[in-house]
Amino acid sequence: MDAPADITGSADTTDTTDSAEGPYAECVLCRKPTEYPQTHKGVTLCPVCEWHEAQRTACSG
Ligand SMILES: [Zn+2]
Repeated sequence: MDAPADITGSADTTDTTDSAEGPYAECVLCRKPTEYPQTHKGVTLCPVCEWHEAQRTACSG
């Protein structure tokens, strides 16, 4: 049970960028990376498809 010495990541400054970007879930429609993390539950849509969905919902009826 020995914790890693670089748990704070003081040496790895570039690693913070990776964690910030994170693995994004891909859009269920066009498979492009979305703004949601992969841990996001439910349907994930990229900004473009999200906009289209909003338009479609707005035009329903
Ligand atoms: Zn999309």
